[in-house]
Amino acid sequence: EVKRNGKNGYKYYSCEFNEQLQLRLELESELRKAMEREEFRLYYQPQISSIDNRMIGVEALIRWEHPTKGIISPGVFIPVAEESDLIYSIGEWTMREACRQMKKWHDEGVFFASVSVNLSARQFLQPNLVQQIHVILEETGLDPSFLVLEITESMMMDASHSIGILNELNSTGVKISLDDFGTGYSSLSYLKHYPIYKLKIDRSFIIDITTDESDQAIVATIISMAKHLKMEVIAEGIETKEQLDFLTSHDCKEIQGYYYCRPLPAQVLEEKYLAIQAENNGIWGDLKH
Ligand code: C2E
Ligand code: MG
Ligand code: MG
Ligand code: MG
Repeated sequence: EVKRNGKNGYKYYSCEFNEQLQLRLELESELRKAMEREEFRLYYQPQISSIDNRMIGVEALIRWEHPTKGIISPGVFIPVAEESDLIYSIGEWTMREACRQMKKWHDEGVFFASVSVNLSARQFLQPNLVQQIHVILEETGLDPSFLVLEITESMMMDASHSIGILNELNSTGVKISLDDFGTGYSSLSYLKHYPIYKLKIDRSFIIDITTDESDQAIVATIISMAKHLKMEVIAEGIETKEQLDFLTSHDCKEIQGYYYCRPLPAQVLEEKYLAIQAENNGIWGDLKH
Protein backbone atom coordinates (compact mmCIF):
# COMPACT_ATOMS: atom_id res chain seq x y z
CA GLU A 1 0.00 0.00 0.00
CA VAL A 2 2.72 2.39 1.02
CA LYS A 3 4.59 1.54 -2.14
CA ARG A 4 1.57 2.19 -4.31
CA ASN A 5 0.97 5.53 -2.67
CA GLY A 6 4.58 6.36 -3.16
CA LYS A 7 4.39 5.45 -6.81
CA ASN A 8 1.20 7.41 -7.31
CA GLY A 9 2.71 10.28 -5.42
CA TYR A 10 5.71 10.22 -7.70
CA LYS A 11 3.63 9.99 -10.83
CA TYR A 12 1.45 12.85 -9.66
CA TYR A 13 4.50 14.95 -8.83
CA SER A 14 6.12 14.18 -12.15
CA CYS A 15 2.97 15.12 -14.02
CA GLU A 16 2.62 18.36 -12.13
CA PHE A 17 6.28 19.11 -12.75
CA ASN A 18 5.85 18.77 -16.50
CA GLU A 19 2.80 20.96 -16.36
CA GLN A 20 4.75 23.61 -14.47
CA LEU A 21 7.59 23.44 -16.94
CA GLN A 22 5.15 23.68 -19.82
CA LEU A 23 3.53 26.77 -18.33
CA ARG A 24 6.91 28.35 -17.80
CA LEU A 25 8.10 27.75 -21.35
CA GLU A 26 4.79 29.11 -22.61
CA LEU A 27 5.20 32.18 -20.43
CA GLU A 28 8.73 32.77 -21.65
CA SER A 29 7.80 32.53 -25.31
CA GLU A 30 4.83 34.86 -24.84
CA LEU A 31 6.99 37.24 -22.85
CA ARG A 32 9.23 37.51 -25.91
CA LYS A 33 6.31 38.68 -28.00
CA ALA A 34 4.86 40.94 -25.32
CA MET A 35 7.36 43.70 -25.95
CA GLU A 36 6.62 44.07 -29.68
CA ARG A 37 2.91 43.71 -29.02
CA GLU A 38 3.22 46.53 -26.48
CA GLU A 39 1.50 44.61 -23.73
CA PHE A 40 3.45 46.10 -20.81
CA ARG A 41 2.00 48.92 -18.76
CA LEU A 42 3.36 50.98 -15.91
CA TYR A 43 1.15 51.57 -12.92
CA TYR A 44 2.03 54.30 -10.44
CA GLN A 45 1.55 54.24 -6.69
CA PRO A 46 1.71 57.51 -4.72
CA GLN A 47 4.26 58.15 -2.00
CA ILE A 48 2.76 60.53 0.54
CA SER A 49 4.49 62.90 2.95
CA SER A 50 3.22 62.20 6.43
CA ILE A 51 4.00 65.81 7.35
CA ASP A 52 1.44 67.47 5.12
CA ASN A 53 -0.28 64.49 3.46
CA ARG A 54 0.75 65.60 -0.03
CA MET A 55 2.01 63.36 -2.80
CA ILE A 56 5.77 63.74 -3.25
CA GLY A 57 6.59 60.77 -5.42
CA VAL A 58 5.30 57.72 -7.23
CA GLU A 59 6.69 54.22 -7.63
CA ALA A 60 6.44 52.77 -11.14
CA LEU A 61 5.24 49.16 -11.03
CA ILE A 62 5.09 47.09 -14.19
CA ARG A 63 2.06 45.06 -15.31
CA TRP A 64 1.62 42.74 -18.25
CA GLU A 65 -1.74 43.09 -19.94
CA HIS A 66 -1.99 39.67 -21.52
CA PRO A 67 -4.54 39.44 -24.36
CA THR A 68 -6.27 36.35 -22.90
CA LYS A 69 -4.90 35.84 -19.38
CA GLY A 70 -5.64 39.34 -18.13
CA ILE A 71 -3.28 41.39 -15.98
CA ILE A 72 -0.19 39.43 -14.93
CA SER A 73 1.75 40.73 -11.94
CA PRO A 74 5.52 41.31 -11.93
CA GLY A 75 5.95 38.72 -9.20
CA VAL A 76 5.05 36.13 -11.85
CA PHE A 77 6.93 37.29 -14.95
CA ILE A 78 9.91 39.30 -13.69
CA PRO A 79 11.61 36.16 -12.30
CA VAL A 80 11.10 34.46 -15.70
CA ALA A 81 12.47 37.51 -17.51
CA GLU A 82 15.42 37.56 -15.08
CA GLU A 83 16.40 34.06 -16.17
CA SER A 84 16.60 35.09 -19.81
CA ASP A 85 17.94 38.19 -21.53
CA LEU A 86 14.42 39.59 -21.65
CA ILE A 87 15.04 41.47 -18.42
CA TYR A 88 17.34 43.90 -20.26
CA SER A 89 14.75 45.07 -22.77
CA ILE A 90 11.97 45.11 -20.15
CA GLY A 91 14.18 47.08 -17.78
CA GLU A 92 15.14 49.60 -20.43
CA TRP A 93 11.53 50.03 -21.54
CA THR A 94 10.43 50.57 -17.94
CA MET A 95 13.11 53.17 -17.27
CA ARG A 96 12.33 55.12 -20.45
CA GLU A 97 8.56 54.96 -19.97
CA ALA A 98 8.72 56.05 -16.30
CA CYS A 99 11.01 59.00 -17.11
CA ARG A 100 8.93 59.99 -20.15
CA GLN A 101 5.69 59.94 -18.15
CA MET A 102 7.13 61.92 -15.23
CA LYS A 103 8.60 64.53 -17.57
CA LYS A 104 5.19 64.82 -19.23
CA TRP A 105 3.55 65.40 -15.86
CA HIS A 106 6.16 68.05 -15.05
CA ASP A 107 5.74 69.78 -18.44
CA GLU A 108 1.97 69.82 -18.17
CA GLY A 109 2.21 71.17 -14.63
CA VAL A 110 0.22 68.26 -13.22
CA PHE A 111 2.69 67.61 -10.40
CA PHE A 112 6.42 67.81 -9.69
CA ALA A 113 6.86 64.47 -8.01
CA SER A 114 9.80 62.08 -8.26
CA VAL A 115 9.53 58.64 -9.85
CA SER A 116 10.98 55.49 -8.30
CA VAL A 117 11.96 52.69 -10.66
CA ASN A 118 12.81 49.15 -9.53
CA LEU A 119 16.04 47.67 -10.81
CA SER A 120 16.43 43.91 -11.09
CA ALA A 121 19.66 42.21 -10.04
CA ARG A 122 20.85 41.51 -13.58
CA GLN A 123 20.03 45.00 -14.71
CA PHE A 124 22.16 46.36 -11.90
CA LEU A 125 25.13 44.35 -13.14
CA GLN A 126 24.64 45.31 -16.77
CA PRO A 127 27.91 46.99 -17.84
CA ASN A 128 26.24 49.88 -19.68
CA LEU A 129 23.60 50.64 -17.01
CA VAL A 130 24.90 54.08 -16.08
CA GLN A 131 25.28 55.05 -19.73
CA GLN A 132 21.79 53.76 -20.53
CA ILE A 133 20.20 55.76 -17.73
CA HIS A 134 22.16 58.82 -18.78
CA VAL A 135 20.88 58.48 -22.37
CA ILE A 136 17.29 58.00 -21.22
CA LEU A 137 17.48 61.11 -19.02
CA GLU A 138 18.87 63.10 -21.96
CA GLU A 139 16.23 61.78 -24.35
CA THR A 140 13.29 62.35 -22.08
CA GLY A 141 14.60 65.56 -20.54
CA LEU A 142 13.74 64.49 -17.01
CA ASP A 143 15.87 66.20 -14.37
CA PRO A 144 17.97 63.39 -12.76
CA SER A 145 17.07 64.58 -9.26
CA PHE A 146 13.51 63.38 -9.91
CA LEU A 147 14.61 59.79 -10.59
CA VAL A 148 14.98 57.32 -7.71
CA LEU A 149 16.38 53.85 -8.35
CA GLU A 150 15.13 51.10 -6.05
CA ILE A 151 17.68 48.37 -5.47
CA THR A 152 17.85 45.66 -2.81
CA GLU A 153 20.57 44.93 -0.29
CA SER A 154 21.45 41.60 -1.87
CA MET A 155 22.19 43.33 -5.17
CA MET A 156 24.86 45.42 -3.50
CA MET A 157 26.35 42.50 -1.63
CA ASP A 158 26.63 40.25 -4.68
CA ALA A 159 28.84 42.60 -6.65
CA SER A 160 32.35 43.51 -5.62
CA HIS A 161 32.15 46.58 -7.81
CA SER A 162 28.67 47.66 -6.64
CA ILE A 163 30.16 50.64 -4.80
CA GLY A 164 31.61 51.82 -8.11
CA ILE A 165 28.25 51.49 -9.89
CA LEU A 166 26.46 53.30 -7.07
CA ASN A 167 28.98 56.14 -7.03
CA GLU A 168 28.67 56.55 -10.77
CA LEU A 169 24.89 56.56 -10.59
CA ASN A 170 25.02 59.01 -7.72
CA SER A 171 27.26 61.37 -9.67
CA THR A 172 24.67 61.56 -12.47
CA GLY A 173 22.30 63.07 -9.91
CA VAL A 174 19.84 60.18 -9.55
CA LYS A 175 19.01 58.86 -6.09
CA ILE A 176 19.34 55.38 -4.64
CA SER A 177 16.70 53.82 -2.43
CA LEU A 178 17.19 50.49 -0.64
CA ASP A 179 14.00 48.52 -1.27
CA ASP A 180 12.69 45.79 1.06
CA PHE A 181 15.09 47.09 3.69
CA GLY A 182 15.60 44.78 6.64
CA THR A 183 14.94 41.55 4.76
CA GLY A 184 18.37 41.29 3.17
CA TYR A 185 21.23 39.20 4.41
CA SER A 186 24.02 41.65 4.87
CA SER A 187 25.97 43.74 7.32
CA LEU A 188 25.06 47.33 8.12
CA SER A 189 28.57 48.63 7.53
CA TYR A 190 27.88 49.40 3.87
CA LEU A 191 25.40 52.06 4.95
CA LYS A 192 28.26 54.38 5.82
CA HIS A 193 30.25 53.88 2.60
CA TYR A 194 27.55 53.71 -0.05
CA PRO A 195 25.72 56.72 -1.47
CA ILE A 196 22.28 55.66 -0.26
CA TYR A 197 19.61 58.31 -0.20
CA LYS A 198 16.65 56.46 1.23
CA LEU A 199 15.72 53.33 3.18
CA LYS A 200 12.45 51.66 2.29
CA ILE A 201 11.13 49.60 5.20
CA ASP A 202 9.78 46.30 3.93
CA ARG A 203 6.08 45.53 4.16
CA SER A 204 6.74 42.36 6.17
CA PHE A 205 7.56 44.53 9.22
CA ILE A 206 4.42 46.60 8.73
CA ILE A 207 1.76 43.87 8.50
CA ASP A 208 1.59 43.19 12.27
CA ILE A 209 3.10 46.47 13.43
CA THR A 210 0.17 47.37 15.66
CA THR A 211 0.52 44.19 17.75
CA ASP A 212 3.99 42.69 17.26
CA GLU A 213 6.50 44.23 19.64
CA SER A 214 9.49 42.92 17.68
CA ASP A 215 8.25 44.56 14.50
CA GLN A 216 7.65 47.76 16.44
CA ALA A 217 11.21 47.71 17.77
CA ILE A 218 12.71 46.96 14.36
CA VAL A 219 10.75 49.66 12.55
CA ALA A 220 11.39 52.30 15.23
CA THR A 221 15.10 51.44 15.06
CA ILE A 222 15.27 51.68 11.26
CA ILE A 223 13.58 55.08 11.33
CA SER A 224 15.93 56.35 14.02
CA MET A 225 18.98 54.89 12.27
CA ALA A 226 18.03 56.55 8.97
CA LYS A 227 17.67 59.86 10.76
CA HIS A 228 21.10 59.58 12.35
CA LEU A 229 22.67 58.56 9.05
CA LYS A 230 20.92 61.54 7.43
CA MET A 231 18.98 59.31 5.07
CA GLU A 232 15.34 59.53 4.11
CA VAL A 233 13.02 56.75 5.17
CA ILE A 234 9.79 55.44 3.65
CA ALA A 235 7.50 52.64 4.78
CA GLU A 236 5.72 50.45 2.22
CA GLY A 237 2.51 48.44 2.48
CA ILE A 238 0.54 50.69 4.83
CA GLU A 239 -3.08 49.56 4.69
CA THR A 240 -4.69 50.86 7.86
CA LYS A 241 -4.98 54.03 9.91
CA GLU A 242 -3.51 52.18 12.90
CA GLN A 243 -0.37 51.25 10.96
CA LEU A 244 -0.09 54.82 9.72
CA ASP A 245 -0.45 56.18 13.27
CA PHE A 246 2.41 54.01 14.53
CA LEU A 247 4.69 55.23 11.74
CA THR A 248 3.86 58.91 12.05
CA SER A 249 4.22 58.79 15.83
CA HIS A 250 7.71 57.38 15.23
CA ASP A 251 8.54 60.13 12.79
CA CYS A 252 8.46 58.21 9.51
CA LYS A 253 8.08 60.99 6.98
CA GLU A 254 7.04 59.06 3.88
CA ILE A 255 4.29 56.52 3.41
CA GLN A 256 3.29 54.24 0.55
CA GLY A 257 0.42 51.76 0.63
CA TYR A 258 -3.16 50.86 -0.17
CA TYR A 259 -4.30 53.07 2.72
CA TYR A 260 -3.65 56.07 0.51
CA CYS A 261 -3.81 54.56 -2.94
CA ARG A 262 -3.26 51.38 -4.95
CA PRO A 263 -0.97 51.43 -7.99
CA LEU A 264 -2.95 52.97 -10.87
CA PRO A 265 -2.50 53.48 -14.62
CA ALA A 266 -1.02 56.93 -15.39
CA GLN A 267 -4.25 58.45 -16.61
CA VAL A 268 -6.28 57.16 -13.65
CA LEU A 269 -3.70 58.46 -11.16
CA GLU A 270 -3.67 61.83 -12.88
CA GLU A 271 -7.45 62.12 -12.63
CA LYS A 272 -7.41 61.09 -8.98
CA TYR A 273 -4.63 63.55 -8.20
CA LEU A 274 -6.47 66.42 -9.88
CA ALA A 275 -9.68 65.52 -8.06
CA ILE A 276 -7.86 65.60 -4.71
CA GLN A 277 -6.34 68.95 -5.68
CA ALA A 278 -9.76 70.36 -6.49
CA GLU A 279 -11.76 68.85 -3.68
CA ASN A 280 -9.30 68.52 -0.81
CA ASN A 281 -6.54 71.07 -1.48
CA GLY A 282 -4.14 68.32 -2.51
CA ILE A 283 -4.37 66.61 0.84
CA TRP A 284 -4.50 62.80 0.71
CA GLY A 285 -6.14 60.52 3.23
CA ASP A 286 -8.60 61.40 5.90
CA LEU A 287 -7.52 64.21 8.18
CA LYS A 288 -10.90 64.72 9.76
CA HIS A 289 -10.08 62.80 12.92
P1 C2E B 1 8.34 46.19 -4.53
O1 C2E B 1 9.24 47.05 -5.32
O2 C2E B 1 8.68 45.96 -3.10
O3 C2E B 1 6.90 46.84 -4.70
C1 C2E B 1 5.93 46.88 -3.70
C2 C2E B 1 4.82 45.89 -3.98
O4 C2E B 1 3.85 45.97 -2.93
C3 C2E B 1 4.03 46.16 -5.26
O5 C2E B 1 3.60 44.90 -5.77
C4 C2E B 1 2.83 46.96 -4.76
O6 C2E B 1 1.72 46.88 -5.61
C5 C2E B 1 2.58 46.25 -3.45
N1 C2E B 1 1.89 47.10 -2.47
C6 C2E B 1 1.94 48.45 -2.34
N2 C2E B 1 1.21 48.86 -1.29
C7 C2E B 1 0.67 47.74 -0.74
C8 C2E B 1 -0.20 47.51 0.39
O7 C2E B 1 -0.62 48.43 1.09
N3 C2E B 1 -0.52 46.22 0.64
C9 C2E B 1 -0.06 45.17 -0.12
N4 C2E B 1 -0.46 43.95 0.20
N5 C2E B 1 0.77 45.36 -1.18
C10 C2E B 1 1.12 46.62 -1.47
P2 C2E B 1 3.74 44.56 -7.32
O8 C2E B 1 3.38 45.74 -8.15
O9 C2E B 1 3.01 43.28 -7.55
O10 C2E B 1 5.29 44.31 -7.49
C11 C2E B 1 5.94 43.25 -6.85
C12 C2E B 1 7.42 43.33 -7.02
O11 C2E B 1 7.78 43.17 -8.39
C13 C2E B 1 8.01 44.66 -6.62
O12 C2E B 1 8.19 44.73 -5.23
C14 C2E B 1 9.31 44.66 -7.39
O13 C2E B 1 10.28 43.92 -6.71
C15 C2E B 1 8.93 43.92 -8.66
N6 C2E B 1 8.67 44.90 -9.73
C16 C2E B 1 7.58 45.64 -9.98
N7 C2E B 1 7.75 46.41 -11.07
C17 C2E B 1 9.01 46.19 -11.51
C18 C2E B 1 9.79 46.70 -12.60
O14 C2E B 1 9.39 47.57 -13.38
N8 C2E B 1 11.06 46.19 -12.74
C19 C2E B 1 11.56 45.25 -11.87
N9 C2E B 1 12.81 44.81 -12.07
N10 C2E B 1 10.86 44.76 -10.85
C20 C2E B 1 9.59 45.22 -10.67
MG1 MG C 1 10.09 48.83 -5.10
MG1 MG D 1 9.56 47.16 -1.78
MG1 MG E 1 8.71 44.64 -0.70
